[in-house]
Amino acid sequence: MRNVLFAMKPKTKDFLVYTRPNGGRIKLPNEVIRSVHEYVQNERHKSEAGGVMMGRYILNSPDVVIDKITFPMSGDKATRTTFFRKKLAHQTIIDREWEASGNTCTYLGEWHTHPEAYPSPSYIDMFGWKKKLKKDIFDSDSLFFLIAGTVEMRMWEGHKCSKTISMLKLS
Ligand SMILES: [Zn+2]
Repeated sequence: MRNVLFAMKPKTKDFLVYTRPNGGRIKLPNEVIRSVHEYVQNERHKSEAGGVMMGRYILNSPDVVIDKITFPMSGDKATRTTFFRKKLAHQTIIDREWEASGNTCTYLGEWHTHPEAYPSPSYIDMFGWKKKLKKDIFDSDSLFFLIAGTVEMRMWEGHKCSKTISMLKLS
């Protein structure tokens, strides 16, 4: 257990970059990584946590930057292995950021934690992600899904048209 905690520290770089299937990159800056780390389930009592991810598409490129995330809020329901987000509170923040940024900081996807070192989506995660691809209103073709394990943060990209979800490689 302890080793897992220590193993995380050297992995905290200034940012993480994942490669998208279209050759673009998605960047997770240090402040976002640090915020997510606070919720990583590296202790037995910690429940799953999550929220939405917001950011921007870089003009004339396939690159994406995650600028902000929302955190667990009252009304969210969390246990060691599940997390349900109360929609309205997070939506309010998305709307506020969208306006404050002059319509550049947009909804990009979701993040949550898992009590495992190298996370993989559960059946329920996959089901939920596909539902979001079908129902959520968003600008682009893609949504991004981050799962923070106790050692690694992994990112998936889902496509609205094809409904395919693929894990992104850390570059
Ligand atoms: Zn999950």
